[in-house]
Amino acid sequence: IFRRQLPPSPSLPPAPPPLPQTATKDEKIHLLQNTLKDTFRLPSFRFSQLCTLLDTLNSKDCVTLMPTGGGKSLCYQLSSYLNGRILGKSVTFCISPLLSLIMDQVKQMNDIIPNSAVAFCTGVPVTEQTKNWNRIRDVGGGVCLAFITPEKLHKSQKLFKEFTKLSDQNRLARFVIDECHCCCTWGHDFREDYTKLGRLKATFPKVPVLALTATAPKPVLDDVINILKLDKPSVHKSELKRANLRYSIKSKDSDAAGQIHEYICQNHLGQSGIIYTLSRNDADTLSSKLLQLGIAAQSYHSEVSSSEKKGIHEDWMSGKVQVVVATIAFGLGINKSNVRFVIHHSLSKSIFGYYQESGRAGRDGKPADCVIFYAPKDVGRMRCLVDNSVAGEKQLFTMVRYCEERGSSSTCQNLILRGLGEIDKEDMHKNGDFEEGLGTETIDVAKHVKVLIKFLRQTDGLTTGQIATEWRAKEPDPIISEHVDRKELSKSQVEHMCVQLIVKKILGVAVHGNKYKNTMYIIPGEYSQQCLESENLHIECKFEKTKGSSTKKPRAKIRTAPTEPPKPQWQKKIDPNQRKLKESVSNGGK
Ligand code: ADP
Ligand code: MG
Repeated sequence: IFRRQLPPSPSLPPAPPPLPQTATKDEKIHLLQNTLKDTFRLPSFRFSQLCTLLDTLNSKDCVTLMPTGGGKSLCYQLSSYLNGRILGKSVTFCISPLLSLIMDQVKQMNDIIPNSAVAFCTGVPVTEQTKNWNRIRDVGGGVCLAFITPEKLHKSQKLFKEFTKLSDQNRLARFVIDECHCCCTWGHDFREDYTKLGRLKATFPKVPVLALTATAPKPVLDDVINILKLDKPSVHKSELKRANLRYSIKSKDSDAAGQIHEYICQNHLGQSGIIYTLSRNDADTLSSKLLQLGIAAQSYHSEVSSSEKKGIHEDWMSGKVQVVVATIAFGLGINKSNVRFVIHHSLSKSIFGYYQESGRAGRDGKPADCVIFYAPKDVGRMRCLVDNSVAGEKQLFTMVRYCEERGSSSTCQNLILRGLGEIDKEDMHKNGDFEEGLGTETIDVAKHVKVLIKFLRQTDGLTTGQIATEWRAKEPDPIISEHVDRKELSKSQVEHMCVQLIVKKILGVAVHGNKYKNTMYIIPGEYSQQCLESENLHIECKFEKTKGSSTKKPRAKIRTAPTEPPKPQWQKKIDPNQRKLKESVSNGGK
């Protein structure tokens, strides 16, 4: 049919015959497979593609989860081609978050099916957009797939009018929401305008929606379905666990660049990788240090110009740049299959973020490493960056728990799946692969905790670093230290203990600062009083085994308590107003 309407293309094979309304499932599959082979020149469907196509062609709402590079685009390319050129003259509208992704997709589709795809977004000249709208309105215009950014969709009243006209003519095939996890506040890709996309289904309830993403654990999936107002959608999902990825946590010392350089040289010489950092400054500093040490590294963040970004991306794709040192700005649309390692120079904001970022490794199915270089002091930095909401803090603490656990690779994956809400605690143990990390030991720190809480009550809140140095350095004060030798724990152990106690809510956090710098202070937490009152307190903390560690079984030093408690000499003067301010900050201003 379309051969009469379009200039003949030598690369295009004859179109398959239209599918009768009464076609059986087998006949539909047959048509899909023929189209895949003849038009898309691919041998067979991948997991989820076929089910998705059958559902969306049957006008069913659908959410499909496939890893990056898994072939999500084919789901809308092939269905829009069938709807637009073979079965009818209807148009598929795809909402996509990035201009660069849209331009890529338009080109890809037009390479396969000439003159079939257009885009409506900034970057396309207005005259061309007008021309394209005319082609869409024209039954013989040949357009089967049109891309729009969500921002454009909500800014323009005209678009919905056009949709209505098409819908009245029965020419609105479907809406595709690519990267649909962007509508969820979890993770880094959240886009305000994605949350308004439910308007599509509300206005056009009969038009099927196809939502696509690489990452949507259960809670995110529920959010997506709600926000997009999907009608009993079918969900096609590939496994979230990635067997070829090896997860690990390494202790970061003061020379992180040196450590990372050594790690890459020993494990991934010349191989492609990504290093995620917390700040632009970290990315710049680390990449120049690695460069000095002989690793072809480039930094990538929001302050890098878009032409430079494009260049870095291309050089990395071609292997000219070995490592991209980036903030989370390096994310959406990144699709390189042979990434052999993803290093985190500091922890992520949430487990969901970490799953997405680390999941960019090993897309080709070959072994790859996901490593966090972790130091407890990063928790303070990150806590100052995440918003003050309870949810934001909770997500960060799940991440902290993951780092502090120092589990084996399979434990790490289990913890991630648990953090994502995919499996529950019982499943983790049932899986049988919940093992202790190598080189860790568990110590009962109950007596230290009691002392620490009393110590903190005398202060106005201290940073982890201050606790580790000051508290250990103070002359033992009889009332505070009771029978405990505070030097039993090393400085590093005290730091780890602090963050583990924060996660357990025995210690609390107050963020305090000015417009230049925020600092996380540690204060007694929700359960601190309970700890002090408990006669039989056990609090286990996990530490990395140190060489010749003497902390395995801390010696119990029994001293008798003094009869009359002297006043602590080092007690800080507390300004009650300041404390109030800090507390209000720590409560998220509530
Ligand atoms: P994503 O899921 O990240 O959106 P894409 O749709 O961009 O991934 O697809 C990635 C690559 O996989 C493309 O080069 C595409 O041609 C290829 N691909 C898609 N489906 C198949 C298939 N069934 N067989 C072989 N290659 C495929
Ligand atoms: Mg895609």
